[in-house]
Amino acid sequence: MTGTTPGLKVYPIDFADFIDFVAKDREAKKFLLRLRDLAQKRGEFLYFAGGMVRDYLLFKKGRLSFKEIKDSDLVLEGNLEEFLQELNGGIKKEILFKSQFLTYKVRVFLGKISLEVDFITARKEVYEGIAQLPKVFPSNFLDDLLRRDFTINSLAIGLSPPYEGLLLDPLDGKKDLESALIKPLHLYSFVEDPTRIFRGIRYTVRLDFSFAEEFYQALEVCYQKEALKRLSSTRLVNELRLYLLKEGEDLLPDLLETTYQLGVFENAGIEVARENFPVLCEVLKEIKEEFSPKERERVYLLGLVATLSDLERLGFSEVEVKRLANLLHDIKGLCNRIKKLSLKEKLDWFDKIRRDYLCAFAVIFPELKEEVLRYLKIYSKVRPELNGEDLKKLGFKPGKDIGEILKLLRLKRLEGTIKNKKEEIEFLKNFLVKNQ
Ligand code: ATP
Repeated sequence: MTGTTPGLKVYPIDFADFIDFVAKDREAKKFLLRLRDLAQKRGEFLYFAGGMVRDYLLFKKGRLSFKEIKDSDLVLEGNLEEFLQELNGGIKKEILFKSQFLTYKVRVFLGKISLEVDFITARKEVYEGIAQLPKVFPSNFLDDLLRRDFTINSLAIGLSPPYEGLLLDPLDGKKDLESALIKPLHLYSFVEDPTRIFRGIRYTVRLDFSFAEEFYQALEVCYQKEALKRLSSTRLVNELRLYLLKEGEDLLPDLLETTYQLGVFENAGIEVARENFPVLCEVLKEIKEEFSPKERERVYLLGLVATLSDLERLGFSEVEVKRLANLLHDIKGLCNRIKKLSLKEKLDWFDKIRRDYLCAFAVIFPELKEEVLRYLKIYSKVRPELNGEDLKKLGFKPGKDIGEILKLLRLKRLEGTIKNKKEEIEFLKNFLVKNQ
């Protein structure tokens, strides 16, 4: 079925089913219908676009489970600021974030529940320089769909007239979705915005899709224009970070391998240690529960590169790279001897190294892996029951010595020669007598 806009395909959908899918409970549904009424009253077009529409269609085809579905873009062709102001009556809400790209993240309080909703202004984007952020202008829904990354994301479902309950498809995205293809919108798509390459890889791996021929062609043009090299470190790292933090450890091996095979790392100016990918992914899985997202990200970036100089491309400072070079030199010496070291010697080594660095060294030097993981999961968690204050009360002088004694107690507990607080006190009394 073809609509009034040339080239635009319009399909009816089961609207009630879509609303059920989008709004998980009664309050949310009521809220959505209220947004629809307001848009209708103001004569503005409100619609869902991007991930939610794509995932809904995939869900209906049985290609996605419900729990995999992420959040949505609710887009207004109109004046969003005024729209949100007019929404005030009776609805408690808080604007969490307002971006330069005419978008608002809003928390709405609906009875017992609260919802976070991303409101976006339908917009046109103009790219003036290779790999630079675009200039953004409010526009109509068609421009908004034509500014997107892939045809499967250039789909919308209307919430208000004139396209209420209709699927809008200007670029045959529905067909690509059915053929499981990732197709950019035009040949220069990745020159304009090379981050789309990483997005495309994520979709391919996550959804088990393939790259359309047009993907490879756009990639080739991007490489010819050296657009990836011009992508800022911050934006590059952000995309790599999403592999780990958004897609997760299970998909990481596939994501990294695909990125490597496409020549993306090389063309972005990073030499990666491909032979380390398996152990890197394994270590990241092992430390998932132990480390903060920031720490995991650093282990990941450190383990990814082939040489320390590549870290500067990933935003590490020169000072930090130098510090790492010194540490790396020391650690290299440790590798051959690790099996022969006593527990105390190992602890002395590991205690003085930041744990994200330590973990990265476990990736770079596989002979350290077992020891480092054991240290992180077991050794570093064992603490004596007595603390510094207790030691002072027993007659130890405040200062560096107390730290050393606490380490000694930890060692004894790890070796199993001290098992409880009473034995710790006994040990320290003897220690004081011997060292007087
Ligand atoms: P996910 O399931 O990963 O959350 P999503 O499609 O919702 O997927 P978002 O990153 O939330 O992804 O982006 C929302 C929408 O904005 C995308 O569907 C896409 O249409 C558009 N978009 C995001 N980034 C870009 C980009 N760099 N270039 C063009 N369009 C983009």
